[in-house]
Amino acid sequence: MTQSEHGVSLASIYQARRRIAGQAARTPLVCSRALSERFDAEILLKLETQQPTGAFKLRGATNMIAALIERHGRDALEAGVVTASTGNHGRAVAFAASRLGIAATICLSRLVPANKVVAIEALGAEVRRVGESQDEAFGEVERLVHERGMTLIPPFDDPLIAAGQGTIGLELMEDAPDLDRVIVGLSGGGLLGGIGAAVKAIRPETRLTGVSLSHGAAMWESLQAGRPVAVEEVESLADSLGGGIGLDNRCTFGLVREVMDDHYQVSEVAIAHAMVDLLEHEKLLVEGAAAVGLAALAEHGIEVRGQRVALILSGNGVALETLDRARSMCGR
Ligand SMILES: *Cc1c(COP(=O)(O)O)cnc(C)c1O
Repeated sequence: MTQSEHGVSLASIYQARRRIAGQAARTPLVCSRALSERFDAEILLKLETQQPTGAFKLRGATNMIAALIERHGRDALEAGVVTASTGNHGRAVAFAASRLGIAATICLSRLVPANKVVAIEALGAEVRRVGESQDEAFGEVERLVHERGMTLIPPFDDPLIAAGQGTIGLELMEDAPDLDRVIVGLSGGGLLGGIGAAVKAIRPETRLTGVSLSHGAAMWESLQAGRPVAVEEVESLADSLGGGIGLDNRCTFGLVREVMDDHYQVSEVAIAHAMVDLLEHEKLLVEGAAAVGLAALAEHGIEVRGQRVALILSGNGVALETLDRARSMCGR
């Protein structure tokens, strides 16, 4: 068995599948008639919006915590797991830890609104409110790792996280074995890298298309530069795609470089139209990050005629104000 530097293999993805069975959902792959007609192709939607936490990140978080229990025993995790995400990753860690009987601490800055704090507490995690920024919250995470022996569960840059997200690729290959293309939203690269590792091992001809934001896309800039670089964060409808890839990235940068075939950037207006299209025609409420695949098809006229194409609808964590903003941006 071969395993490259990034540490993600088909075997590690099958192990992830065994660990997450019964904890994260095996989600449906459904054909969209409206989109299939519009693009003269068979457009399939992978509904990660149906995960119990509303996004795919539950796969990676569950796999990592379960693998650490397997390898080192429960006692090694006695101090609990910790992270600082306010979004889908924080929810996933809180939920996965509670299901696996491990304590979780989520560090949030004092700027995070009270409703988000309550939502994370309701998933069984302890919330620590520290500092006035995400950076300060991360500082607290580091302190808890070093002083209290807590275990960090990172949002993307770990072979166990990417392998967990890669279970989506196994499901795609089972439900649509002759898939021509997968289109995936790309930020830190755990999602695209994991799916790519599975799909390329099983059917190398299937094309893997990544979609990034047009501004503040750290993976895009890093691939251009040939090494991880920092970017300034920009507000976007697809807020789950924001953030850096880590200047000391050790897994996902190399993995994405290996498995991705083509890469597009999408505008905010295209994301807005895609969100409203999915709501209006498919009755699917998705967050901006989950709509970028459709946005790329529409904005770049990617040639898909006659092909079987899967779009990963990665999550549904959208605030009503954000949906209103998307609607007003496209006048619908
Ligand atoms: C995290 C996230 C992504 C991007 O995943 P990466 O592994 O960081 O590339 C896409 N969509 C949603 C909904 C997410 O939460």
